[in-house]
Amino acid sequence: MMTTASADFGLTEEQKMIRRSVLPMLAEVLPHDKIMEMDEAREFPFDAYRALAQAGWMGLPHEEAYGGSDGSYKDLAIFVETVAYHNAQLASAYLTSVIYGGMQVKHGASAALKREILPGMIAGDIRLALCITEPETGSDVASIRTRAVQDGDDYLISGQKVYITCAHVAHHLIVATKTDRDAGHKGITLFMVDARSPGVSIRPLKALGRRMIHTNEVYFDDVRVPASRMLGERNNGWSALMRGLNLERLCLAAAACGNMMRIIDYAGSYARDRQQFGKPISSFQAISHKFADMQIMAESARVMVHRVADLLDAGESPTMQTAIAKVLATENNSRCADMGIQIMGGAGYMMEHEMQMYFRDARVGAIGGGTSEIMRTVIAKQMGL
Ligand SMILES: Cc1cc2nc3c(=O)[nH]c(=O)nc-3n(C[C@H](O)[C@H](O)[C@H](O)COP(=O)(O)OP(=O)(O)OC[C@H]3O[C@@H](n4cnc5c(N)ncnc54)[C@H](O)[C@@H]3O)c2cc1C
Repeated sequence: MMTTASADFGLTEEQKMIRRSVLPMLAEVLPHDKIMEMDEAREFPFDAYRALAQAGWMGLPHEEAYGGSDGSYKDLAIFVETVAYHNAQLASAYLTSVIYGGMQVKHGASAALKREILPGMIAGDIRLALCITEPETGSDVASIRTRAVQDGDDYLISGQKVYITCAHVAHHLIVATKTDRDAGHKGITLFMVDARSPGVSIRPLKALGRRMIHTNEVYFDDVRVPASRMLGERNNGWSALMRGLNLERLCLAAAACGNMMRIIDYAGSYARDRQQFGKPISSFQAISHKFADMQIMAESARVMVHRVADLLDAGESPTMQTAIAKVLATENNSRCADMGIQIMGGAGYMMEHEMQMYFRDARVGAIGGGTSEIMRTVIAKQMGL
């Protein structure tokens, strides 16, 4: 494989082992021809998800007390990149439960709620989804309208969420609500809602990519939730959401790096085999320079991702560096996918080859988890502009 030589560079023995143990397991449980079939059929990769859980990976960033292994940010970044190298959608399914949902439970749930959720989540039996975005509010999170109104010891939640990844396979939904309608970001409260509660309805959406794991519309119609299932304090949801951002963006960037490395290897193997004018197309400088550019894009993004992970491990709060890593990795990923299609010519454009899926899956990177425009605004703000 083309990228293997550099993939282990600078990693500890344990981190190299992450790659060596995860990739063969995923190749067995979720082979690439099966991914193509499941993507077409829009089937969630339950077997691969379970295999990751059985091997203990759901607990990587979680506390030992709940069955986790208290891994470092760097370990997590290497793991996410590795899973995304096999399949970016599986990495997203992992992140949705373990990071986007799981971290809100880790930091915001009562001890009783943690005991109820985390061991099951780490075992792969409980999946979570994070519901923030609404039809009227995406980037402008502070303006969400879904309301939670207190009713004795309960809250009643009403509203609509959209683009919610994995909600259709989630057991619990972490829902951002407004408990004080007029207080902007100071009126947001997070709740954990049983996805089977009366009044919850979930409708899958058809999207360009990530078809195995879906996004969904989620409707809440006077859904009764006990106050004990509030995450963090009332009206303190904004800071809970902000606290998670660096880690979420690190993971999105790491996943984009994995997808880029897959694209380079996939297009590389095609380019070595494909003959035109009596030679492999990889021998034409116009093609080999494309590979060099793709490697530059992947490696520079990886270096940035690893740097951010190291900074987080050192206890820093690298807001600007994380936004840079997210922009660099996700935009480079889209560019690599586009170049991968160009390298493969007509075959790259055909549904029978994997490249089109990498292209479709890559495109969301610059949109989800804070768009590239919002990331640039964050960077400029950190620069004092
Ligand atoms: C596949 C997929 C999965 C997703 N999964 C989830 C999920 O699990 N949970 C969840 O809650 N959400 C999820 N989202 C939603 C995602 O976080 C939002 O799509 C994203 O935050 C952007 O919001 P929006 O789509 O409403 O775009 P908008 O906010 O309407 O933005 C539209 C355009 O305007 C630009 N823009 C907006 N405001 C500014 C500004 N101030 N300055 C400059 N440009 C601006 C944006 O960058 C963008 O280009 C998902 C989205 C997708 C596509």
